[in-house]
Parts: sequence; structure tokens; C-alpha cells
Amino acid sequence: MSVLPELDAHVPIPGPVLLLGAPGVGKGTQAQILMDAWGIPQVSTGDIVRENIRLRTAPGLEFQDLVARGVLVPDDLVNGMVADRTARADCARGFILDGYPRTLGQAEWWDGFLADWGALKDGAVQLPLIAVSIEVRYSELLRRITGRRTGSVSKRIYNVYTNPPVSPGVCDVDGEPLVQRPDDTEEVFAERMRAFDELTAPVIEHYRGLGRFEVVDGEQSVEAVTANLVAALRRLRHGVL
Ligand code: AMP
Repeated sequence: MSVLPELDAHVPIPGPVLLLGAPGVGKGTQAQILMDAWGIPQVSTGDIVRENIRLRTAPGLEFQDLVARGVLVPDDLVNGMVADRTARADCARGFILDGYPRTLGQAEWWDGFLADWGALKDGAVQLPLIAVSIEVRYSELLRRITGRRTGSVSKRIYNVYTNPPVSPGVCDVDGEPLVQRPDDTEEVFAERMRAFDELTAPVIEHYRGLGRFEVVDGEQSVEAVTANLVAALRRLRHGVL
């Protein structure tokens, strides 16, 4: 039984769930909650990209400068990484996509990939993708982004203004150091927002047009956002109002 009754009410929702929203709307926080409740993984392209940079892989070296400037990395590289990640067994029942697809090109590639899922994976069935956008005003996003701190290993998310750890700079759960992402500065944030507005708006229109899209107000408590998010996903997946 989870803390939120909405999460248990009529359990099956999974299949691919896409969380859309500008940097800082709380996609990562919500993904973490849904992942714990449903036992499906989060597939975050931001995390995959950062991991490649940390490990200094060939694509990672290519990404480094782009990520530092808040510019998106090439579609074909991201598409391949998501295909690899979702091929793992833990994604069979569904997964939460965080930060992907982020351009219309990625969305079209991804829809084709999902349509071929059965052929690629021995006839395994995957449900259609459903998408929810979490929306928050720019001024509030800026505060969230510049205050964000992340557990260096667990990736647990804190905010020095709105959700501070008990001891500054240290994770409450396992004592690991909390770090600030280098692209969580005001200047890089502005570029990430510009990229988001320009490139992700068509992704929203794409899924809205397919009738697989809803919006949730992100300026509420984490619990209220989860409740509204789950209700929206339930409507989209099962048509339950
Ligand atoms: P995020 O943590 O989602 O804000 O992603 C951090 C950075 O990783 C972005 O500013 C991009 O440079 C890169 N990135 C993450 N996801 C994608 C994507 N779907 N397409 C292209 N670049 C991405």
C-alpha cells in the first residue's frame, strides 16, 4: 500500500509513460514516486547523458560541451541510447520516460520504435505511450533550478529553498554529499528553457493531436501533483474519470 491511495486505487497503468515539462517542473521527483509505487524503471535521458560524460565514453565526450551550454545532444545518439536502455528486461511491463522524446524528430522515431516493439522483442506487447506535461511559471522554475541539489549516488532530489536536507549539503537517507548540477545555473537555465520552448512544444502538440496528452499544474505540493498526475494517466490509459 502506498502513501497515496490514488497510486493503488486501480493499480494497472504502466506501459510507457512520458513526463513532459520544462527543466525544474518536478519530473524527476514524480518519476521517483511512480517508480517506487509501480516497480517500473525511470528512463531519464539526462541521467544517461550525464553517465556517459562521467564515464568518458565516445558519445560522452561529444556531449560534454553541448550539455554544459544547455544545448540538446543529437537525436540519433539519444534515440539509440533509449532503445538500448528499454531493451532491458526491467522495461518489459512499462517505464517512465523523463526528458525523452524532447524533439518532434525523437517523438516520430520513438513512435515507430514502439510500433515495432513486438517484432523486435519476440512478440512482446507494449502499450501505447501516454504523456502528461507538468506546468510551472518561469520565475518559480528559476528558484527551483538554482536551489536544486542531488544525491551524488542515489540521485535523490532536494532543494535548498523548498525541500532542504536536515544537514546542509548531506542526504538525509544515506549521508552522501549533495551536489549541484553544473547546468543548474541561471544562465544555462535560460538556454535550456529556450530549447524547451522551441523544440518540445511540437512534441506536446504531437501527443495532444493523438489524444494521448494531458496537462497537470506543477505549482502544488508534491503529493497533490502526484495525485493529479496519476488521475490524468488513469484517464489516458483506461478512460476512467
Ligand atoms: P535534463 O537532465 O533532462 O535537463 O538533461 C540535461 C541535458 O542532457 C540537456 O540539456 C541536453 O543537453 C541533454 N539531453 C537530455 N535529454 C535529451 C534529449 N531527449 N535530447 C537531446 N538532449 C538531451
